[in-house]
Parts: sequence; C-alpha cells; structure tokens
Amino acid sequence: MTDSFDVLVIGGGPGGYVAALRAAQLGAKAAVVERDRVGGTCLVRGCIPTKALLQSAELYTLAKAGATFGVVSEKLDIDWAAALGRKSEVVDKLVKGVEGLLKAGGVTLVRGTACLEGKGVVDVSGERIQAKDIVIATGSAVARIPLKGAELTIDSDQILELKEIPGRLAVIGGGVVGMEFAAMFAALGTKVTVFEMLPQVLPMVDADLVTVYAKHLAGLGGEIHTDAKVEEVSKQKGRLQVRFSSGGEGGSIDADQVLLAVGRVPYTQGLEAEKAGVKLERGRVVVDEHLHTTADGIWAIGDVIGGIMLAHVASYEGVCAIENIVVGANRTPDYHAAPNCIYTDPEIAHVGLGEKEAREKGLDIKVGRFPFTASARALTLGQPEGFVKVVAEASTGRLLGAHIIGPRATDLIAEATLAVQNGLTLDQIDLTIHAHPTLPESLMEAALAAQGQAIHITNRRIATSTPPPAGAVPAAATSPASGEVKGQTAKAQNREQQMTGPVKSTPPPAGAVPAAATSPRGGKASLAPPVAITPKALELTKQNRDFLLGLHRQMQLIRRFEERAQEQYTKAKIGGYCHLNIGEEATVVGGIHALKLNDYIFTSYREHGHAIARGIDPKAVMAELFGKETGTSHGRGGSMHMFDSNLRFMGGYGIVGGHLPLAVGGGWAVRYRKEKDVVFCMFGDGATNIGAFHESLNFSKVFKLPVVWFCVNNRYGMGTPVEAASAVADIYKKACAYDMESIQVDGMNLREVMLKTSEIVEKTRADSEPRFIEALCYRFKGHSVVDPDKYRPAEDKEKFRKADPIVAFEHELETSGLADEEYFKKVRQEVDAEVQDIVRYADESADPNPDDLYKFAYAGEWENRPELRGDPL
Ligand code: FAD
Repeated sequence: MTDSFDVLVIGGGPGGYVAALRAAQLGAKAAVVERDRVGGTCLVRGCIPTKALLQSAELYTLAKAGATFGVVSEKLDIDWAAALGRKSEVVDKLVKGVEGLLKAGGVTLVRGTACLEGKGVVDVSGERIQAKDIVIATGSAVARIPLKGAELTIDSDQILELKEIPGRLAVIGGGVVGMEFAAMFAALGTKVTVFEMLPQVLPMVDADLVTVYAKHLAGLGGEIHTDAKVEEVSKQKGRLQVRFSSGGEGGSIDADQVLLAVGRVPYTQGLEAEKAGVKLERGRVVVDEHLHTTADGIWAIGDVIGGIMLAHVASYEGVCAIENIVVGANRTPDYHAAPNCIYTDPEIAHVGLGEKEAREKGLDIKVGRFPFTASARALTLGQPEGFVKVVAEASTGRLLGAHIIGPRATDLIAEATLAVQNGLTLDQIDLTIHAHPTLPESLMEAALAAQGQAIHITNRRIATSTPPPAGAVPAAATSPASGEVKGQTAKAQNREQQMTGPVKSTPPPAGAVPAAATSPRGGKASLAPPVAITPKALELTKQNRDFLLGLHRQMQLIRRFEERAQEQYTKAKIGGYCHLNIGEEATVVGGIHALKLNDYIFTSYREHGHAIARGIDPKAVMAELFGKETGTSHGRGGSMHMFDSNLRFMGGYGIVGGHLPLAVGGGWAVRYRKEKDVVFCMFGDGATNIGAFHESLNFSKVFKLPVVWFCVNNRYGMGTPVEAASAVADIYKKACAYDMESIQVDGMNLREVMLKTSEIVEKTRADSEPRFIEALCYRFKGHSVVDPDKYRPAEDKEKFRKADPIVAFEHELETSGLADEEYFKKVRQEVDAEVQDIVRYADESADPNPDDLYKFAYAGEWENRPELRGDPL
C-alpha cells in the first residue's frame, strides 16, 4: 500500500480535477488519477481544441468580409498547419495550467489507469491506493453504430488531427459535435453535407433557431438531409461514397472525409465497476440524487453518469459530490438552469424551457423576441443575424427559458442563466441597467417585448398562451388598449420599490397537456416554411421535400381529425353542432400556410382544420369540442369557438359572416399601428349574401385596409347550391364591384392555392389594398354531422371524390419520386395513432369549473378590473 487519501478521484477531466480541487479546498487529502493528460475530453479532444479551430474559421470569415469594414488585404488564405499548431498550443497551455492548479491546491496527481479493487481500495497500474471515498469521473467515449463501412469514417478525435482541410465532408449525425464541425469546415470552404435521422438537426434546440442556422449553412453551400439514414460508406475509385435513404428513396454523395458523430457513451472500461458493487445501466454508472453509487463510499459524476454530457455540468456535479462527501452537505444537483452552448455560426445558446416544451407542459407563458437586426451592437459588429427569445411564466413573469442565436450567444446566455437559476422575472431584467451599446441589451429588449413594451422594435403582441376571450380584436392583443395603458401606468409607479424577490417555481396546472403531445408541425416531415412562397419553393424537388411532406401530413391529420370528430359526435361526446370540412384540406392548408406568423386569421367560428393548420395543438382543439377545460377556449366555446390570440387565430364569435366586420376592425388596427401584417378573413360562400359581407368589403376598400378576403366556396352554402343561393355564382365577381383585385383558384390543388394566396397576400402587405380570393373546393360530408346530405347529386359527389385533394397531392409526390405508397401508409398509421391519442387526451381532460365560467369573458376585464364591475343585484 503506497498511500491513502480522504478522497480519490478517478479521471482528471473537468469533472474530476474540479472535484479534487474543491475537496482540497475543504481540507480533505485529495488525489486524482489520470491515465492520459489532465483536462480530459474537454481540454484535450473536445471543448477547447474545437473552439480554438473555430476561432480560426471565424477569423477567416471576418477577414473575407474585411473590405466592408475598410480592412483590405491582398491575398487571404488559410494555413491549416498553423491553425492546428495554435490549437495545440492553447491545449498545452491549459493542460499545464490544470497541472499547476492541482499542485498549488495540494492535490496529488497519480499517473496511470485506475481499477476499483473493493471498498476504499483502487489499483493504479499495479499500485494499490486507499481512500475513504472514491469519485468515478471517467467521462465518455465516442459512440459507434453498426454501419457498413464505419471503418472508413473518422470520429471527433481524429478530425482534429486531419492534415488538410477536406474538400468535401459528410457528417453523419446532426448533434452538437457534428454541427460544430459542419460549421467550422463550411466556413473554411469545405462542401459539407449533414445526415440526420430525426426531422431536425440539433433536436434539443427550438426549431425557429435551427432554421436560422440551417439557412446560414445553406448560404455557405452546406446541405442538411433530415429524416435521412446513412446505409453505407464505401470506397469508390479512391474517394468515399455515402449511400443514404430518406423518405422512401435513396441517394448517394461523394466525400473526402466522413465524420461519424452519433453521440458519446459513458466510459467505464477497465474500471471493474460492477465487481466493486457499482451498478451500471446501459454502460452508465447509476447514482442516487446525491451522486452516490450503489457501492458504499463510491460516488460518480460527469459524463460517466449520463444525463447532460457537458463540461460545466461535470464540474458542477463534481463540486456537489465533494461537498456531500467532505462536509455532509446533502446537495442534490439542480439542472433546471444548465445552459447549453453550440459554437456554430451563428452561435446558439439556450437555457431552461423551450417555447414548445413549455407549451407542451401546458404552461401559461409569455414569449418575447428581439432580433439582432435591431441591436446597435450587432450592427456595429456586422453580425445582425439571429435573435433573442425569452419564455416566461404568464402569471408571474418568472423567466423560464432563454434562447439565443446570433453573435456571442454563448456568452450572452450567462445573464439569462443567472435569471432562470434564481427565479428572476422579466421585470427584474428590465429594471437592471444594461450598458449601451452591448449585445446583452437584446435580452433586456426581449424581456420588454414579452410584456409588449420593447423600445427598439415595434411591439407586435403580448405573446401569452392564456386562452383569450371570444371577440377580442387584434388591437387588444397587440397594443395596450386604454384600460391596459392605465394598468401599466399604475404598475409603472415606483417599480424599483415594488420589485419583489425571486419567484419560486410553480407546478404545471392539473390537466396540462402531457409532454408527449405531438404538434401539428411535428412528425416525420417538417413544416418549417420556406423563406418565401415562390414557384421554386413549391416545386416537387428534393430540396423542398421536407416541407411538401409536412403539408401532406398535415392534410392527412386534419382529415383524420374530422373523421374522428364525426364519430365522437355520434357518441354524444361533442355537444351542439359539429361542422365538418372533409375535402377542403388543400384550401385550408394551402391558404393558411401562405401567411406569415404575424398575420391575423379571422375565420368561421367553428373551423377545426383551420386551427390545426395554423399550429394550434389538435389536442386542445378536440378538448374544446368536448367542452373541456384544456380546450382552446377552456371548454367555453364547446363545438363552436376555436381561438388562440397567441397564433393570431380568431375563430370565436357569432353566426355566419359575423366575423367580416371584425376583420375590418383588425385591418384598421394594423393600419393605425403602421404594421406590415395582413388580416386574412376566411368564410364560406353562404356568408357572401349578407349585408355585413358587402359593407365589410366596401369599408376595407374605401379605407385601404390590408385585408385579404378568402372565400372557401365548397359550392353548397348550408344545403343550397351556390347557384341557387347567390345571384352571382362566381363569388369572386362580387368583389370586383368594389374595385378590388379578385381571383378564383382551384381549391383542390394545394400548391396552386398556396402560391396564388401568397402572391395576393404579399401584394396586400406591400400596398395595404384589400384583395379577394375565391377557392373552389368541395365538401365530402354534409355541412354538419347531422346533415342528411341528400341535396347533392350522386354524380356530383363522384366527380369530386375523384379529385380528392389529398389523393391528388399524393399522386404528385409519388410521380415526382418524393414519396411512395409505403410512406403514405406509414403517415396514415402515424396520423391514426396521433388522432387516437388526441381523442384520448380530450376524453381524459378535466371539465371546466362552473364557478370559473366568467373567467376570460370580455378580455378578462371582468376578473381583472374590479373598478369596472357594478355590484350584482
Ligand atoms: P472527461 O472529460 O471525459 O474526462 C475523463 C477522464 O478520465 C479522461 O481524461 C480519461 O483519460 C480519464 N480516465 C478514464 N478512465 C480512467 C481510468 N480507468 N483511470 C484513470 N483515468 C481514466 N462540453 C462543453 O461543455 N462545451 C463544449 O464546447 C464541448 N465541446 C465538445 C466538443 C467535442 C468534440 C467533444 C467530444 C465533447 C465536447 N464537450 C463539450 C463535452 C465535454 O468534453 C464533456 O462533457 C466533458 O469533458 C466531461 O467531463 P468528465 O470529467 O466527465 O469526463
């Protein structure tokens, strides 16, 4: 026996060396065993070498843009050997630094490979060392998959040693490591192609951030294949070939190097952990909430325990475990504010809950965004790409999460991390003076934006997921109405003194949407919209495949939802009437996806499909039909009113055509506020016979309001053929009477509806002139579930059945080779299961509390403004 210690740490990575130093600080006799260089993966093969090389790439990118800044150089080139040399210097310096710290801190560094011998005994390369407590911090290793030709690929360790920059790099795996290398080499001029099996690269990041990154990479010639499985890597005539399958079809690309970056696995090789009584579960060391393993006196931290595999988390756990060991602190790690930084270009960083995650948890949230295009500092840096997004609890303003893509996002996240960790509120962020001009001002502005009070951008809306009241108009949602201004004035008085302490976390409300809720934008295919809806963006090509398949999936989802709604109605689960729009999917999906997220939709009060196309959680839509508390209007709309102010979707008001004047009001609000949003008003042909229709069109034209009138003409308003119900059967001609541009589109043709609607909407956005679209479609079921549907001739039905918009679109996808019958079958099965889940969710949701029935009525004013309420009789 050579030596004995109070604490012996196995592994000198950021988990292990930090733990050992903390132990020594607390007075323990500490040692760390390391078989390689101290600093571990992080310093030697991970965080540090990658960031050193990324700095070379960043400098090269900046230098290329030098002329814009007035910095001109004759010839610009990359000296890769010099970049590698600098990287090694940085690593060496830091490794030496850690060795110095250990020495100065009184920690013994034992060189060799450790093996657990039994309670309190460790063998290090043949020498036995005794310790009262042992901490396993052996980290992780590169994960491997059974891929044909895997031996031809390189991993994240080997790529750091490449002697030259590859001309073409294939990256298998769209996680953090893969995307950082993709960003680095793309910036250095490499043609990068990424393959990811999931529908999105960086799946842990909110989709709106990933879209910005993907666009940037595409600008550098990079390509991302999602939903793509690499089948084989082979060598063909001296070059590598990657064969992959995606969406039922195959493809291949050539590459000079192929990086296999499919994750990391906990590393316990040679440790003999199980012999020592340490339980392993799929390779990771199992620990309790205090980081103690199943063996007495043995603890574990860092990558080897799985969970969040990041250097700072390993260090944090190291300190936690040591304080538990040395001073009996009983600490339990709290990961809710563990930041995640991704050093892509632009950088990405996030902490706490994502927007989608928060909504899926059923939390009532406010969201605020601030684009770097409006940040003075970002403009001076010449890096205006990206934005800051904050997610806060609606009732308290407590910051739940922050998400940043843009310049120095990885530094900016620190302030948000402090706020999330300590339960600080949006108020507390905006009451903190932020230096100018700096990037952190953007976090403050995002916090203000969440409250509708941003200074350096126009406040678009107060983005809360609180179910809004029926009948609210956009003005109330976008700008402080006079009552609200008064409320804000009162709130603004002496805010510094009113500032309270941190807000403690509250559990999600009972009956909240479960985490597994599937979003209509989710699934295999992606509904991330193209930047602009152009003929090219809708061409049946591989580049557009994800989006096109996303549209197809959504049409299927809407159809299945409606079919199941009909069944539920017959089972008396849905009260009142239930209106169906089966057959109108192309009109609905094409019309709504032609809009931007800031546009307002006023639609017939009962449209489930419209709500789903807009992105409202279908579970909430079904719950609303069931009259449940978890519905879009908290079960108060029943089978009629679908509403979500967050998504600017207004569907909750009176009878046929009653919403057209409201759309006029919306148009007024947009014009008055000098915004560039469009009001999109959807209605059936039946609504075009009433006075409100004519007056609304007239008013919108006279006052130049940015309203696009969109008539879903399914040819049978209620039970009457349009020719019999209307003096002018071609409804679009009615709009011409008001000197308004007016078109008719084939509503059974998804791409046509979308393209033409987009053209009209963008024209209106540009000149604030109202316009009119008539989409000709057909309703396969009656007007409502109880409609006997006898008025339509059989040949009429037969004719339109043949033009089924979903079948027609599937035919297009199939003939252009973007999908096949097997894919469609799979989608149908998935959608079936999803809708089954939706029905189950609605079934199990809570009923509204009768005492709450006035809550949210009249914009919540009844609840919130006691000074306006008269005494009851
Ligand atoms: P490690 O750092 O893996 O250290 C474990 C140590 O234990 C190693 O030095 C190993 O040699 C030693 N060891 C193993 N077994 C024995 C034994 N039996 N006896 C003696 N010694 C042993 N994280 C971030 O937070 N930010 C980043 O930017 C980042 N970038 C990364 C980039 C890449 C390419 C990679 C691969 C990882 C990156 N990571 C990053 C992850 C980060 O490196 C790890 O999360 C972190 O190093 C884990 O620390 P650890 O102490 O648990 O383990």
